[in-house]
Amino acid sequence: MKPFCRDTWVEVDLDAIRANVETFRRHIPEKTEIMAVVKADGYGHGAVQVGREALDAGADSLAVAMLDEAVVLRDAGITAPILVLGYTPPESVGIASKRQVELTAYSEAWIREADRLLRQDQLEPVGIHVKADTGMGRLGVRTTDELLGVVGALEESDKLRWSGLFTHYACADEPDDTHVRRQHEMFQAFLQALLASGRKLPKVHCCNTAAAIAHPEWGYDTIRLGIGLYGLYPSPYMKERADVSLIPALSLKTRIAHVKVAEQPITVSYGATYTTEPNEQVATLPIGYADGYSRLLSNRGTVLFEGSRASIIGRVCMDQTMVRIESGEAEVGDEVVLYGRQGEEEISLDEVAALIGTINYEVPCMLNYRIPKVYM
Ligand code: PLP
Repeated sequence: MKPFCRDTWVEVDLDAIRANVETFRRHIPEKTEIMAVVKADGYGHGAVQVGREALDAGADSLAVAMLDEAVVLRDAGITAPILVLGYTPPESVGIASKRQVELTAYSEAWIREADRLLRQDQLEPVGIHVKADTGMGRLGVRTTDELLGVVGALEESDKLRWSGLFTHYACADEPDDTHVRRQHEMFQAFLQALLASGRKLPKVHCCNTAAAIAHPEWGYDTIRLGIGLYGLYPSPYMKERADVSLIPALSLKTRIAHVKVAEQPITVSYGATYTTEPNEQVATLPIGYADGYSRLLSNRGTVLFEGSRASIIGRVCMDQTMVRIESGEAEVGDEVVLYGRQGEEEISLDEVAALIGTINYEVPCMLNYRIPKVYM
């Protein structure tokens, strides 16, 4: 018996996750490791299942955005190294110590406070990756002096271990590589400054999916593989380059909850923005914007029924969506694909993203806890 009642679900193809890890393994230098980025519940695919599969397929470590996400992975029994890429309030450093999770730091004040708290509670040391802001303008040290100050503070601490140095690229997915090259040069200057100060470099990393595709030679010790893990390209341009062939892992499916054929025109959904033609076949689907199926798809999106497109009619409601079925006869319980393949047709996350004016990253991230996940 299936462990959920509703007739809407996400399917995640773990073989696709495996294949994508293996593809990047072949694409990057042999000595470069793979850190699988499973923040935001594995970009909506399920962090624990994707993390386990990625590690089994050859990834060496995992990354998340915040400590709470790392705790979920540890609670699930994952023992591989985990790095928190974002900010962690110093008062949570004890949890990182107890769960052996590595943290990101970029300020001397943070390091001194984290060190004080770990000493106060007599806790085990925590591994720290220093973040350098080379042009993302988000988190990180921006000058060599700041970097040397932060590293110096780490070296004074018995409770914080300097484990890594990294930066994040803002434009690695674009055809014009001026910005990413400028960032890379600045990162190299940081590395040179550390070497010139007589230090040995810790684990160095700078590549997200786009940089790993376009510049595998910049892999250093590990790449941080996010969107590519899930079989998606960081931008339409990266897809066109076709350096690597990726397999999308996620499908979104539902089953028809109601069918009507109205002889006379009727209006459909809130605002009565759509009026049927005579004898139009209208199917109601049990999914809506409260599931993360965007209301921007109202009167615009399509779904797949019996391998053909069916248009969304009227506004997407909180829990339900209506579609016009033109090919075949629909019945309650028939399967409909909202994202993914059915027969020869496919609704890609790229297509949905373009339709609602966002990037493919956001589309699976929007799908939330209400939708059960099935792993294939
Ligand atoms: N590294 C950092 C710091 C990130 O914030 C992210 C995601 O946003 C990644 C790596 C992974 O990026 P991508 O999904 O483009 O591979």
